[in-house]
Amino acid sequence: MAGEPQSDCLFCKIVAGEIPATVVRETDRTLAFRDISPKAPTHILVIPKVHYPNAAELAAAEPEIAGELLAEAGEVAADEKIVESGYRLIFNTGAGAGQTIFHAHVHVLGGRPMNENMV
Ligand code: 5GP
Repeated sequence: MAGEPQSDCLFCKIVAGEIPATVVRETDRTLAFRDISPKAPTHILVIPKVHYPNAAELAAAEPEIAGELLAEAGEVAADEKIVESGYRLIFNTGAGAGQTIFHAHVHVLGGRPMNENMV
């Protein structure tokens, strides 16, 4: 069923506490934890606790949670003190765009100059 935990999903396992993660923020519906392979001094993933394969599908099915995901990304940036210097939110969507974990998530990246081209 849509939103239900998937037994083969790494991020569902992190939500369930079956795989450890360095959690920096948690709400009833979202979890934020440090990326295991950081690409910047701050590299945090914010995920919904419910399972959707990508952020667009989450937003279509559960717009309130998608909004909360963005709000939490902003809170993470504030906690990390990277608002003034600037930060980047990335939603890789589809393998062709580099998505490797098919559970919706937003990357919060900052702490170094983030204004170089990405494409
Ligand atoms: P994607 O490429 O799907 O947009 O992003 C997935 C991210 O998950 C990658 O940046 C990758 O480093 C991170 N990642 C993969 N496995 C783990 C893990 O076990 N723990 C944590 N904290 N991050 C992970």
